[in-house]
Formats: sequence, structure tokens, C-alpha cells
Amino acid sequence: MIPLTKYIEYKKGTLPILLISAHGGYMIPDEIPDRKNGNLCPDLKTIEFSLDLYNQANEIWGGVPHLLICNLSRSKIDLNRSKYIGTECKETQEIWDKWFNYIEEIIGNIKRDYGYGIIFDIHGHGDLANKIWLGYGLNKIKLDTNQFNENSIQNLIKLGNHNSKDILIEKRSLGYIINKLYNKDMCLPNFENKIGSQRYLSGGLIIKKYGCNGLFDAIQIEIPNSLRTDPKKRIEFIKIFLESILLFLSQNLHINIFHPT
Ligand SMILES: [Zn+2]
Repeated sequence: MIPLTKYIEYKKGTLPILLISAHGGYMIPDEIPDRKNGNLCPDLKTIEFSLDLYNQANEIWGGVPHLLICNLSRSKIDLNRSKYIGTECKETQEIWDKWFNYIEEIIGNIKRDYGYGIIFDIHGHGDLANKIWLGYGLNKIKLDTNQFNENSIQNLIKLGNHNSKDILIEKRSLGYIINKLYNKDMCLPNFENKIGSQRYLSGGLIIKKYGCNGLFDAIQIEIPNSLRTDPKKRIEFIKIFLESILLFLSQNLHINIFHPT
């Protein structure tokens, strides 16, 4: 890892994919005051998840993603929220600015070098139902009423001339592919789980800021506890997750980003 600041680290990739880990940091320096408002709860083991994903990627993808990590605890800063909610002092406001500048620099380079790129924003939740939630910037009402316009993977949909619903929640979706390869009802949203009290994820600032305006593509992934904390299960799942992303992007994009010609 290359330290970009005291708290932010980066690993350069060889593919037009950016992995982000904003909520898994362990550092709680005394010189930065604790936040008093908002969600202070860390997404435990998401840095480990992201590093394992990076380390396993080459074997399945034939290359590695770019990786951006915040090591500062969420009790000090939230880098997936607005500056107003995510920071409460001058020092973290500066870190917040730098973080988003780095993201913009990386996606600018990816767009310049490849023409297409996508963010996978890695998070974790503690919900006992143990499902993976995928966020495309669409809330429950929009998903339930087929209002897909402002989703966070508009470039992929446009490039492949796809039907949005197919790509977001039906047979061509990442959720569908993970369910098929891993466990048949692991992922929300997908075509089978759109009823009743099932949880939906819209997503946070990163995917909305870069995905929903069509600038870049971005998907938020919320991994349940069981697939983060147990190292053996984590690796098992990561291999299938990498396979699922490979299938999702190669089946839906009409360019091969894994083996460019
Ligand atoms: Zn999170």
C-alpha cells in the first residue's frame, strides 16, 4: 500500500475497476476529536475483505483493481457521507476533501486509459438476515415502481444498450449472478426478493456522487458479518464474488475490460 496521507492508502491497479473501503478503519488518534453525530459504527473487517479481494483478483480477473482505503475510524470521519455529516473538525474536513480528490483523480485516469470504469464501494452490515445488499442509488419506492433512471451504472446500461431492469435486478444483474453461483437467495435486490419486509439498499454518497449522475459507474456492496469476520468463509465468498463480477461485466459490457485487445 502507498500512503497518500497519514490515514489514506492506495494501491494502483491494472484494470479499470476501483475498490473503495471507507468504513473499516481502526485508527483513533487523540488529536482528532470523536464525531458526536451520525452513524459512528465501523464496518468491521471491510479493509481485510478489500485486501483479500485485491490479493485474489489476479488469479480470476487476470489483473488487479485500484484500491483506496481509509484507515481512520468512522468514529472520527465518515467518508461516505456529505462533509457536513461526515466531519466535525477542520482536520477531518481536509481529509474529506483529499479523499474525494483522490477518487476523482483515479477515476479520471481510468476514464482516460480505458474509456470505461466502475467503482465497487465495499461496506459491511450487521443485519442478522445475513444477506448481501447491492446499492444502485435507488430506494425501495423507485425499485418497486420501476423508476430506474437515476441508477448508478448508467454507462454500462447505455454502452450495452440494455434494459435497466434486466441489469439492475433481473437476470443480467450482479445480484442474480451471485445468487446463482453462491447461494440462491443471498443477494438483495434481485428478481426474487422484491416483496414484503425485505431490506433494500439505496447507497451512500460515493456511488451517488460518481454513479448516479452518469460520470462513472459505481455499485455499493454491503457484506454481512458472516462473510467478513470468518477468514475462511471470506476467501471462499471472495472467489465467487470475483467470478460474479467478471461474468457481470463481460456479459453486459460490449468491451472486454479484463483482456483488452
Ligand atoms: Zn459502510
